[in-house]
Amino acid sequence: MSAPRSAVVVGGGIAGSATAIALTKAGIATTVLEARSTAADLDGVMLTVATNGINALRAIDADHCVTGLGFPTPTITLRTHTGKRLGDTFTGGLLPDGTQSQTVRRADLSAALRDEARRRGVTIREDSRVERVAEHPHGVRAVLADGAVVESDILIGADGVHSTVRSYIDPEAPRPAYAGLLTTGGYASAVEVDANPGGYEMIFGRRAFFGYAVAPDGEIWWFVNLPEPKEPPRTQLRAVPAQRWRETFQRVYADDAGPALDLVAATPDFAPMTSIHTMAHLPRWHTDRMIVVGDAAHAPSPTSGQGASLSIEDAVVLATALRDARTPAEAFAGFESVRRPRVEKIIKAAARINNTKAPGPVGRLLRDLMLPTILRLTADTKSARETYEYRVEWAGPGASALGSRTELS
Ligand SMILES: Cc1cc2nc3c(=O)[nH]c(=O)nc-3n(C[C@H](O)[C@H](O)[C@H](O)COP(=O)(O)OP(=O)(O)OC[C@H]3O[C@@H](n4cnc5c(N)ncnc54)[C@H](O)[C@@H]3O)c2cc1C
Repeated sequence: MSAPRSAVVVGGGIAGSATAIALTKAGIATTVLEARSTAADLDGVMLTVATNGINALRAIDADHCVTGLGFPTPTITLRTHTGKRLGDTFTGGLLPDGTQSQTVRRADLSAALRDEARRRGVTIREDSRVERVAEHPHGVRAVLADGAVVESDILIGADGVHSTVRSYIDPEAPRPAYAGLLTTGGYASAVEVDANPGGYEMIFGRRAFFGYAVAPDGEIWWFVNLPEPKEPPRTQLRAVPAQRWRETFQRVYADDAGPALDLVAATPDFAPMTSIHTMAHLPRWHTDRMIVVGDAAHAPSPTSGQGASLSIEDAVVLATALRDARTPAEAFAGFESVRRPRVEKIIKAAARINNTKAPGPVGRLLRDLMLPTILRLTADTKSARETYEYRVEWAGPGASALGSRTELS
């Protein structure tokens, strides 16, 4: 087996597009197969790309895809349901040029990365759902839903937390875990809130979690995390009319301080309601020619604020490993040895916080007792710094996953 010259990436979300950009920079001809017709179809409202993720984009000359797209998020303020300020979370400080973590619309970032990949010569085939994949001695074959076949030297599954590729790498792979939470959100205008443009607030409500950020133009981006112990089927969730959700939010946030009710009322339409899943530990990430990255390999709860950033780090580390290794299998093993300890540590920390978002009656009591601990977990601590100040590189002594660890600055 020799170094790969061609790659297929399954999935054109943030992980898939970043991986395609990085592989192209490493000289590997890349095709992305994406099930949806446009990046704007992506569920969810906003996400924060932390400084470690922006730095990783910089390593592949693509940080312009995030800076300028949203707004800087120097801190996130946490509050109780009474409005009492608990404190601020750490979001990564400053990069050497003063850049801070950025909050962006999830679909905008996905579209910007997809456009950048195209500009670099990546072939992106939309409406191309991969149904099955197979590895043979000379390469890998992806079979699409319409029967078309795409061949390549290696295949990267960036197909999200419900990955199809994962089950071909390991038929025994665990299923993603339902986090006991549903999420949606939207965009509201002309609502007065107690936060300045650029401000980001998160409220531990009596019955559900609520977050909002004020964009520089005054528009307010918000999201909810609704506890729901039993996961509803996706089709059932999508069939619920917006008016029913509106009534649910009015009931759930009725006793909380803060602008939740006003924001819901001022929002014409909500993002599709989605159940949150995590993938804390996937025993097997790769075969000799196939590997999973991003949420397909390791999905933290959104609480971590790291899902997108970790996916972009993956892209850079995988491409440098493939660039430097003699065979894909060697590159994949090096990649896993660098990435697994980092992502699993972050996922574990986020899970502890996530549990406080879906409390039952007893859990709520415990949660209130735990809030000071939550603050310690998210504040400017050694552990937070390890997350945000991690730096992947394209060149230099720390830039290879083979033999030496990617550098911690
Ligand atoms: C509702 C929601 C809110 C989130 N909020 C945050 C947040 O606030 N902060 C944060 O850091 N992270 C957040 N995340 C997570 C973050 O978006 C992901 O960690 C990050 O985008 C990496 O995802 P990914 O590219 O691996 O997977 P995805 O974004 O899920 O992309 C996977 C892509 O693969 C495609 N695909 C799937 N199956 C196939 C197939 N068989 N064939 C072809 N294509 C396929 C999908 O259409 C999709 O485009 C959120 C995720 C969701 C779902």
